[in-house]
Amino acid sequence: MTGTRSPHVVIVGAGVVGLGAAAEAHRRGHRVTVVEQAASVIGSSVQNFGHVGVTAQAGQARRYALAARERWLALGAAAGFPVSTTGTHVVARTEAELRLLGELHAERGDDEVRLLDADRTRAAVPVRPGAVVGGAHLPLDLQVAPRVAAPALAGWLERQGVTFRWRTAARAVGPGRVETTAGPVDADVVVVAAHHDLDRLLPDVATEAGLRRCRLHMLRVRPASSPRPFPGPLLTGWSMVRYEALAACPSADDVARELAAADPEAAAWDVNLMLTPQADGTLIVGDTHVRDVDAPVFQDEAGNTVLLRLLTDLLDTGVDVVERWQGTYATAPGREFLVAEPAPGVHVATVTTGIGMTTGLGLAADVLDRAGVTG
Ligand SMILES: Cc1cc2nc3c(=O)[nH]c(=O)nc-3n(C[C@H](O)[C@H](O)[C@H](O)COP(=O)(O)OP(=O)(O)OC[C@H]3O[C@@H](n4cnc5c(N)ncnc54)[C@H](O)[C@@H]3O)c2cc1C
Repeated sequence: MTGTRSPHVVIVGAGVVGLGAAAEAHRRGHRVTVVEQAASVIGSSVQNFGHVGVTAQAGQARRYALAARERWLALGAAAGFPVSTTGTHVVARTEAELRLLGELHAERGDDEVRLLDADRTRAAVPVRPGAVVGGAHLPLDLQVAPRVAAPALAGWLERQGVTFRWRTAARAVGPGRVETTAGPVDADVVVVAAHHDLDRLLPDVATEAGLRRCRLHMLRVRPASSPRPFPGPLLTGWSMVRYEALAACPSADDVARELAAADPEAAAWDVNLMLTPQADGTLIVGDTHVRDVDAPVFQDEAGNTVLLRLLTDLLDTGVDVVERWQGTYATAPGREFLVAEPAPGVHVATVTTGIGMTTGLGLAADVLDRAGVTG
């Protein structure tokens, strides 16, 4: 990156990671082009819950999440999409789950984890009386509307002067150049934010990391009757054994054993029962997890049946299903992020578990730092 012209950062992929890199590189004063094979933002970044679950992260993910939190707030204000600051509620349905929340509180303190007794939990979230023994409020967490936030960010970046090449696939990336289906694009720095399709663009990097696809059952439901809405995202015991900060608590093994014993079918589906309320009164509900190299679109209805059984057991009402879909995200054993520089000036930025809405904007900024794309 020498000379007087503004260095050109070319980003492959218009998901939250690629758009985060575009926003940050643009903010730092660089020329930016985003190359996206689809006609719009259509990947995992619109398939998700919109949960920015900062508190449940640990280690590098926590550092990225804290940085991403600031970026979501700033970008939401600039681009004009809502970012909700109501925080997350977690419900505990057994003493072990409640103990685990107490352990997280002991580590993080009142600023991050506010413990609630059963009455206050039920007052905060419309769950079935008797369904919970207590809970916690995680005030740092954010929520965005998943089908609004990333597309709004792309539209705003385009209006700010970032060049978008939609319906243009990157066929090869190398030092100083991206070969696309619409011809070559010269670049000083390339950021590959192709998510699980990294295995098609840079198969060696993906194979070495053991990158695969994780398929998830997702539902949007309308409660049949609801006296009051959920104030924000809701996590359950199934979430406690999944996210690093919760899963590292001493009682996590007890919670995992209890869940598996109480509901082997849900455990076999590797369920994470959680939901986020949407502006139209519906709830996004999920999810299940099946990992493989490819993600065939065919979904076993048994996954939906399990989720709906767990949901109606938790809620104080039945639900009507409005939509079903299969989400797909990248997964790799033993890591949450895949950051690599397979060729000089070519930087891979991949979130390799289901926390990219929480961490992706932080990862993107870190990868630019590593690439020397400074302000
Ligand atoms: C069902 C589901 C629920 C989730 N819930 C949450 C949640 O609530 N909170 C959270 O933190 N995370 C959640 N996640 C994870 C999160 O959505 C992802 O980690 C994140 O969206 C990944 O962003 P990305 O930009 O890397 O990928 P994507 O959004 O998938 O974008 C990658 C883009 O790259 C493009 N692309 C790929 N190859 C090429 C190529 N060769 N040329 C051009 N373009 C290319 C694709 O078309 C795609 O648009 C969830 C994921 C799923 C699937």
